[in-house]
Amino acid sequence: SYLPGPTDAARAFLRDARLAMISASADLHRHLDVLVVAPEYERRLRVLLEHCERNLPRVDEDLIRRAFRVAYWAHRDDRRASGELYISHPLEVALIAAKDIRMDDVTVAAALLHDTVEDTDLSLDLLESEFGTEVARITDGVTKIGSVFENRALGRAENVRKLMLSMASDVRVILVKFADRLHNMRTLGAMPPEKQLRIAAETQELFAPLAHRFGLHEVKTELEDLSLKYLQPEAYREIADGLNAKRRQRERYIERFIDPLRTELEAEGFDFHIYGRPKSFTSIYNKMRRQNVELDEVYDLFAIRVILHTTGKQGREDCWRVYSALTARYPPLAARFRDFISVPKSNGYQSLHTTVIGPEGRAVEIQIRTAEMHEIAERGVAAHWKYKEGATGGDGAAPESATAGASEARIDEMYAWVRDLLENPTPDDAGEFVRQFQLNLYDEEIYVFTPGGDLVTLPRGATPVDFAFQIHSEVGFHCIGAKADGKMVPLSYRLQSGEQVEILTSKRQTPNPDWASFVVTHKAQSRIKHWVNERRRKAVAHGRELLDKKLARAKLKPDEQVINKWATGLRFASAQQLFYEIGTGQYDPAEFVTA
Ligand code: MN
Repeated sequence: SYLPGPTDAARAFLRDARLAMISASADLHRHLDVLVVAPEYERRLRVLLEHCERNLPRVDEDLIRRAFRVAYWAHRDDRRASGELYISHPLEVALIAAKDIRMDDVTVAAALLHDTVEDTDLSLDLLESEFGTEVARITDGVTKIGSVFENRALGRAENVRKLMLSMASDVRVILVKFADRLHNMRTLGAMPPEKQLRIAAETQELFAPLAHRFGLHEVKTELEDLSLKYLQPEAYREIADGLNAKRRQRERYIERFIDPLRTELEAEGFDFHIYGRPKSFTSIYNKMRRQNVELDEVYDLFAIRVILHTTGKQGREDCWRVYSALTARYPPLAARFRDFISVPKSNGYQSLHTTVIGPEGRAVEIQIRTAEMHEIAERGVAAHWKYKEGATGGDGAAPESATAGASEARIDEMYAWVRDLLENPTPDDAGEFVRQFQLNLYDEEIYVFTPGGDLVTLPRGATPVDFAFQIHSEVGFHCIGAKADGKMVPLSYRLQSGEQVEILTSKRQTPNPDWASFVVTHKAQSRIKHWVNERRRKAVAHGRELLDKKLARAKLKPDEQVINKWATGLRFASAQQLFYEIGTGQYDPAEFVTA
């Protein structure tokens, strides 16, 4: 068959757009070819690359070098509030991504570029042509989240919802945003005081709980403690000074506690690491406030951790064996025992928790976990996929040898995990989460996408029919089938957040009254009811017309009362029902007239 080509105007437009892109790219490369990076920043780039090599599954060094040079050039005229070259910020954000979050090289490249689209004249299109769709998409997401926060008029719940959404499309967006916020918090001192307070409050209320939700424990703790430093400067100082003053004493106690245990575990042949760690400022501060006590009266300023280097079933068994060795030496407080190994928290956290009575009768908290569990505990979502992939074995593709396809699968796996995390909160942390954000809104809504990528918000439990009516009544009236993420689903299927929904329509299809039994939106419900009533009304009018014609031919002109009597005599519920059945062809008026 013959397809008309593009019009001349369309052709000219495409040519111009392509030329503009080529010239922007050529322009950029002309600048990059002669770009000289200050030695200080060359050095910092090398440090970044070293962390990438050490921590990431595989590293496209060229990608990171190019991202660095483009960002360096784009921000050449910008400075931070501290007076430093602006590039130091994206560079530090990338370092957090490589060192603390440890996701992948694409995340690091996007971190380097995360402020370019918003703050420089680099366009998103140019980023995409230079670095590909993933880097461009993440950068775009980070830019959009930024603008969500700028818009103070939006309610908090709405902000969180948007945040969730951006992350449902690519969790790396939120990981870069966490890194961005962490560096901004680390350098908050350069900001004017009222900005410090606003940013610290937002970090404490929003970013820290979200980081917790994603299982990024390290990032969460640092965000919380930095917020406390600005929001409660006196308490922060008191805790810092108090911890400092008693450091030696605390370290001695920890040694006294650990030494005999270490000897025993070594004798039993465990491959392990045991250490004492200080509790976070925020947890100490919360304890002081909750129990209304002074710092001197908080005894558990530290906790002990045992990390086992065995994996899988052996690792889990070793945790229990260490637990029994520990409690044989130090009596446990039974009430404080928690088994998060058999029943992990919803963010994937696994560990054995207990409190025992140590030397001098002091209660000491202990966590026992494997190195795998530890990594998930510290880095959550960023670490999760790695072990999940390793555990299934699957096609045997280790992250190092992963092809583009395997990489896609890994990312998909991660989204599925995040979606699961968002949709099936367990009471453990969901209560806290919902309370903090009053997110009941979120619980009651799902977010799905059209094939064109547009977002549609629907109540939880919504079906493809609800979706169709939401798009357009015509789509709703004529829908015959639906696909969710490319798979055929029944029209009564309950849609899940993040799914892409496609509605199949036919001109001949009309609404099925049964739909009313499963749709949940008011819009779909009322359109279907309206359509059913309308159809009935038309059938009644048509039936009345047919009957009148028949009666006229028989020279009869009965009034309403007589017709009503006939109808009930023939066991119809009403005259309306009689007309309706004539209108739909279920009852032949010829029978009636001859009757
Ligand atoms: Mn930034």
